[in-house]
Amino acid sequence: MRFENVYTPEQERAREALRKEVRELIKAKGKGVSGGPVDDRTISRDLLKRNKEFRIELGKKGWFMPTMPKKYGGAGLSPDMASVIYDELDVLNEWAADGFPGGVGPTSFVPNDHSTGMVGILNKIGTEEQKDRMLPPLVRGELVTWEVFTEPEAGSDLPSLQTTAVRDGDEYVINGHKMWIGGNNAPPDVLMTLAITDPNAPRHRNISVFLIPCNIPGVHIYPIDCLAPPYKNQIIFEDARFPASCAVGEGGDGWVAFNTRGGDGGREGERRRPIDELIDYSKETIRNGQRLSQDPEVQEIVTKAYVDNEIHRLLGLRNRWMAEQNRAGTAKKRTTYEGGQMTVYNKQLGPRNADALLKAWGPVALIANEPWGPMRGAAEMYHRHAIEQTHPGGTIEINKLRMFRSVIGPGTRIPAS
Ligand SMILES: Cc1cc2nc3c(=O)[nH]c(=O)nc-3n(C[C@H](O)[C@H](O)[C@H](O)COP(=O)(O)OP(=O)(O)OC[C@H]3O[C@@H](n4cnc5c(N)ncnc54)[C@H](O)[C@@H]3O)c2cc1C
Repeated sequence: MRFENVYTPEQERAREALRKEVRELIKAKGKGVSGGPVDDRTISRDLLKRNKEFRIELGKKGWFMPTMPKKYGGAGLSPDMASVIYDELDVLNEWAADGFPGGVGPTSFVPNDHSTGMVGILNKIGTEEQKDRMLPPLVRGELVTWEVFTEPEAGSDLPSLQTTAVRDGDEYVINGHKMWIGGNNAPPDVLMTLAITDPNAPRHRNISVFLIPCNIPGVHIYPIDCLAPPYKNQIIFEDARFPASCAVGEGGDGWVAFNTRGGDGGREGERRRPIDELIDYSKETIRNGQRLSQDPEVQEIVTKAYVDNEIHRLLGLRNRWMAEQNRAGTAKKRTTYEGGQMTVYNKQLGPRNADALLKAWGPVALIANEPWGPMRGAAEMYHRHAIEQTHPGGTIEINKLRMFRSVIGPGTRIPAS
């Protein structure tokens, strides 16, 4: 049985009307827009500029973050209606959309944009004045945002961060060293940054969050060459001054903010493109006089990969349904572990898919160049990317801990046996 959303005729009509409108916008304004090349080191400035212009076109319709209220520049749509927009936009994202984990929705037009996370933070801890001032340009897609949290000595244990922001009149002065930040779209417009503002306050209550402009003196960005895209950066803050109005929340609530950042609604997990490619390639390729798909070992690998990816899709479908119910106020069950579960599954699925490609195709799966490398050489990149993506936004172990604590309660520790 294939679980799908079932819509009333009226809902179907509304979805189709929206789909048509989105397609028209893509046709009119989306020329040349895409998720970029598989290796984003080669992304051109021109493509980044075109993509940003298209984000702004989406923003004018409220479709950059469609579930956000209209008063902040969104379209006030339900997560389910918003998925119509994301599905259509995925056509533009190509590889960035579903080939690689994580790159879904409009934000993948500019690799490593973290605007949705910033919106989540503002929603949670922002004052009404801050929301009115800061949300609209983010929600309309006008500001490319990088998440600037991790430090050389503070990753999983983020509250150990050492960057400081000291108030000086109407300004703050920030000093510190951040790691694994942003991508190849440097410089972004704004940096969503965590820094210690009260060194005397208890751990977890000494950190504040700031949305600071990137183009201020004292912000230095140095690229880091990574195993695979997205390529990251170090940022050094050296006596960088920014207006006090860049602070978000009341101060000291940066840890709460970090823990609550999120997207703008649930989304159905897609079955990954590599698995479709795995099926097609296995059907088309002749080895030792027979199709790969006739080999019983390949059949077993493909079947298992298909099931794994269907589970991913169904977990996403459930989460989207729960988001929908939360929004409508009809949820019978509080959402606890479900987001973490999807993250853990997602992070484990990438390497499992990569392994399936390797086992089914053999060493040819690790050849990067066309014409020998399957998937136009992208299978090889997929291997590296799947490994790299187990870290961002918290590792598998850390997300398991989050799941555990969200079920058992905050501050819970596993008792020593
Ligand atoms: C591709 C990529 C993109 C990234 N993008 C960004 C970004 O845009 N912005 C940003 O701020 N950061 C970013 N990061 C940083 C990312 O959030 C950190 O790498 C991550 O939080 C882990 O921190 P760490 O690398 O310091 O590893 P560590 O915290 O040193 O962890 C090392 C290992 O120990 C394990 N471990 C740690 N603590 C525990 C525990 N309590 N229980 C069990 N196991 C534990 C971890 O799971 C991991 O396997 C990115 C990282 C990568 C690789």
